[in-house]
Amino acid sequence: MSGAFPDTGLLDLVEHAVLIAVGGRALRVAPNPAACRLFGIAHEANLRVPLSRLVGRSAAAELATFAERLPMNGLGARTAISCKTPRGALLLAADVARAPGRTDVFVLTLREETADATAVEALSQANMVLQSLPVGIELYDRRFNALFYNRKSDELFDYSERAIINHADWWDLAFPDAEKREAARAEWAVVTAAAEADPTQAHMAEWAVMCRDGVTRDIQFYYRRAGEGFSLVLWDVSDRRRLETELRELALTDSLTGLPNRRCFFETAQSLLDNAPPNRALTVLMLDVDHFKAVNDRFGHSVGDEVLKAVAARGKAALRKEDLIARVGGEEFAALLPGTEAAHAACVARRLREAIIAEPVTVGAVAIPVTVSIGVAGRRRDDAAAEVIVERADAALYAAKSAGRDRVAVADENLVGG
Ligand code: GH3
Ligand code: MG
Ligand code: MG
Repeated sequence: MSGAFPDTGLLDLVEHAVLIAVGGRALRVAPNPAACRLFGIAHEANLRVPLSRLVGRSAAAELATFAERLPMNGLGARTAISCKTPRGALLLAADVARAPGRTDVFVLTLREETADATAVEALSQANMVLQSLPVGIELYDRRFNALFYNRKSDELFDYSERAIINHADWWDLAFPDAEKREAARAEWAVVTAAAEADPTQAHMAEWAVMCRDGVTRDIQFYYRRAGEGFSLVLWDVSDRRRLETELRELALTDSLTGLPNRRCFFETAQSLLDNAPPNRALTVLMLDVDHFKAVNDRFGHSVGDEVLKAVAARGKAALRKEDLIARVGGEEFAALLPGTEAAHAACVARRLREAIIAEPVTVGAVAIPVTVSIGVAGRRRDDAAAEVIVERADAALYAAKSAGRDRVAVADENLVGG
């Protein structure tokens, strides 16, 4: 069958210009009606012409070489080629593929390539890229009238209430809280002024904004001068911020009891000291479980853990919301009582002790009696470091232990408010 044309009748119905080419170096082709229009020749049934008559000799030779080199696996390839056609000089894009089962038959699909078409394709590819980016892209003119939003931007801010035609339309939807809105607008004025003054880089603001789905997200807004107007890149950093918050909480939490840990206790105590007026009372209780080593020795470490959890829960329940109880060591706890004078704090400490020792801790079948010792120390007027108060509370705790345990001891006199 070498040299024979397959049936090309169906190709008459195809609106793309298609040539069926047969032969080796000197290809003869059957053009469909669309191909005849492309080359400016009359179409007739069973028309067979040398390829060189349609595209000129050098383009025909180039296409024959290109076709010859195609792999046998049926994959086609694209080339662009400048042709001398009956219609004049044309730049054509040609998709060339081997016909299945025939090494000497090729299918050429042709398209006229103009400078404009290339530009349009480049634009549509650029648009495709912008649409598929995981960040929001927005373009504005100099008055912040919207020129372009990509898909991610629509996902975030295509509110059902109304379309954002000018950037100014966005604020009351994104910031339902008027105070936060005004703060953000003030920051926006600064950031966009900086972008205006310095077009060499993007200028960033980060806000928690209400999105179209009603969810508040942490978004970074990168404003940059673009031509006469501005480009805006939106970066959703909610996941990162959430993770940071979780890590921060984790770093400040004791994993066994869920109470704040030692670090959290000292940070909180110091910040209370730093920010309170000098005459504001503040008391620290240091609490240590008595003979706890014996609990571990007798019942095992995991039962000991359950006892510590019970002490933590009872301690927390016995205090006010504004007080803080933390686990600061193995079987040591510390409480911070803001606004409570040491004299009154001694009562609080006794109540706390009673709440903890009221009943044995039951773990499985065993009931474990627990006692605790507590040292109380209040802030003195000249105390600047939280450690100083804690040291005095520790000394009082030591005194309570020495006096026989299972009791409360108060540190000293000269107390603020006492
Ligand atoms: P004291 O009345 O003098 O305070 O005696 P104590 O036995 O309570 O004190 P000591 O400091 O001798 O022992 C504390 C014990 O607490 C030793 C340690 O194994 C235990 N411990 C520390 N952390 C944990 C923990 O997370 N879980 C358990 N189960 N035990 C712990
Ligand atoms: Mg101890
Ligand atoms: Mg102890």
